[in-house]
Amino acid sequence: MGKVCFHCDKDLEGRTDKKFCTSYCKSSYHYQKNKENEDSLFQKIDRQLKTNRKILKEFNKAGLATVRKEKLLDKGFDPNYFTHYWKNKENKVYLFCYEYGFMNLKEKYVLINWQKYMG
Ligand SMILES: [Zn+2]
Repeated sequence: MGKVCFHCDKDLEGRTDKKFCTSYCKSSYHYQKNKENEDSLFQKIDRQLKTNRKILKEFNKAGLATVRKEKLLDKGFDPNYFTHYWKNKENKVYLFCYEYGFMNLKEKYVLINWQKYMG
């Protein structure tokens, strides 16, 4: 019949709008929730980077390729997620997902592989 604490499941007495038995339970509960949100953001980014890497690898078997953007985007590629970038002598910026890079070229991507000299 009575309500129980959100954190420890103890019966709550008194005010019916209470959600926690103590302020300790309240802060523990919010701490845990925050942590879960951080974890899920981390996992989301992690998953997208790995997906991007897989797609770039798949389309760049030769080490250099030019591919229409839709082809990658259709597979789930998201250009907002990358691990680092490299600028070439012409100041063109390649974005990388680990060892596979891409550069925006109007409706296409130029794909390259990471090379030692880029470091
Ligand atoms: Zn409690």
